[in-house]
Amino acid sequence: MARARVRIIPLGGLSEIGKNMMVLEYRDDIIVIDCGLMFPKEEMLGVDLVIPDISYLMERRDKIRGIVVTHGHEDHIGALPYLLPELDVPVYSTQLTNDLISVKLKERKALARARLNVVPRGGKITLGKFEVEFFPVCHSIPDAVGLIITTPLGIIVHSGDFKLDFTPISGEPTDLSRLAEAGKQGVLLLLSDSTYAELPGYTPSEQVVGEALDDIIARAPGRVIITTFASLISRIQQVIDAAVRYDRRVFVVGRNMINIVKMAREQGYLQVPDGALGRLEEAKALPHDRVVFVTTGSQGEPTSALVRMANRDHRQLHIIPGDTVAISATPIPGNEAVVARTIDNLLRQGANVVFGSGAPVHVHGHASQEELKLLLSVVKPKFFVPIHGEYRHLSLHARIAQSTGIPQEHIFVIEDGDVLDVGAETARVVDRIPASHVYVDGLSVGDIGSVVLRDRQMLSRDGIVIVVIAISRRTGKLVTRPDIVSRGFIDTGESNEMLDSSRDLVAGVLDRGAEQPDQWDFVNARVRDTLGNFYFEQTKRRPMILPFMVKV
Ligand SMILES: [Zn+2]
Ligand SMILES: [Zn+2]
Repeated sequence: MARARVRIIPLGGLSEIGKNMMVLEYRDDIIVIDCGLMFPKEEMLGVDLVIPDISYLMERRDKIRGIVVTHGHEDHIGALPYLLPELDVPVYSTQLTNDLISVKLKERKALARARLNVVPRGGKITLGKFEVEFFPVCHSIPDAVGLIITTPLGIIVHSGDFKLDFTPISGEPTDLSRLAEAGKQGVLLLLSDSTYAELPGYTPSEQVVGEALDDIIARAPGRVIITTFASLISRIQQVIDAAVRYDRRVFVVGRNMINIVKMAREQGYLQVPDGALGRLEEAKALPHDRVVFVTTGSQGEPTSALVRMANRDHRQLHIIPGDTVAISATPIPGNEAVVARTIDNLLRQGANVVFGSGAPVHVHGHASQEELKLLLSVVKPKFFVPIHGEYRHLSLHARIAQSTGIPQEHIFVIEDGDVLDVGAETARVVDRIPASHVYVDGLSVGDIGSVVLRDRQMLSRDGIVIVVIAISRRTGKLVTRPDIVSRGFIDTGESNEMLDSSRDLVAGVLDRGAEQPDQWDFVNARVRDTLGNFYFEQTKRRPMILPFMVKV
């Protein structure tokens, strides 16, 4: 057994925020922790979602003992509807997480075949050679857990997403005493949440948010629109409580949030007095100061209700001057620009927008620096890997770990696809496997590759030029001068002359070198090259050039 080692392979979430997925491999057993999605970055034009690349897992499907999910946030469960049908392995999570997963799977008709298992907080399961204990952590969603994983080599602790709020709104605080116990036994490896490693001090308690929301709902002159994460059930509870207190009715907007609220009520996670919630159609009949809307869109998600309202694109709900919009969430790093644009659009329509540090309408769910230190000193791991964060968050967390006394050689800042090989005494990165983005665009998964994205970027930057080449079926020669149409490239009125001379250029190319101008590949390449160079000389732009051949 001396040579036995555990492999730690992040497939997502390391050096990016989102699509968390971590593989633990010991001989013939693999467990997967989380299966999340990421919302697209701005340069991923037209992409709806990004999910992890699971080709490594597909090749080892028979070794996978299960997917263990730490909590019900999108960046931990969101890829399940896409990937679970491929992997077809059991999933283990706590009750609420399980219910949220069911909602998601049902939306994509993938629930029937799924093998979902509920594990109580504090419960233990055995998956091959791994024994996995779900210990309670406090996060911005109830029923969140971290994992204490006992392997033949030693204990691995995975923090999940966590913070150390000692007065949480729902659920229990993070179970530090259980962690301390593990620390005393000896922890081989700690994997810990780095999302907010940049923030000094401690993350404030959820309780301050309740007070701020109460204040807004009490004072707003007109309608109140509160936007938060659909899964932030404790926040929705706070909104309902405040609304009831000030005699307002609450209307939930957006399919995802409606589904989650329905499920949370049925399962008892949400306490809603009779008549507190109404159907959206009923809102119109009420005076403005009797209405609160709760909706998604706090991250500027393009299809969310709030963003639609901001863009005057929502079917049922429009911003009216005098509305108060509270954004009860901080932008996840990377989403700042789209959130800022949404705020601008709301303000432009006359809404009063409450957000950011101006009002404590949100506390995030992740540990700040002092909490990270506390976890490190309680767990006292031999090896440390910062997880969940962009590279700067990971490397900062590494430095924090060093400050608590973990030697630098025992800290590994690894990225998606790195294979970290951990033994009882040593650890090192031994390999790198494919772990790129898989793009979900509309209904298609994985059809969009980097080539498609590059095309979209090119189109958005420099436009498109379409060249119509009419060639005689009989002679194989040009019938007329080629036609050129452009979009998003140049002002065709002003640059008519240039476009015209490029028509001659195409004709010249085809006449000159054209032993067989009707050979499509040849025409295509020659036209693209010649026009590409010409346009670049003239404009310093590189439009996409699409030659079309018509045989007449
Ligand atoms: Zn989370
Ligand atoms: Zn997360």
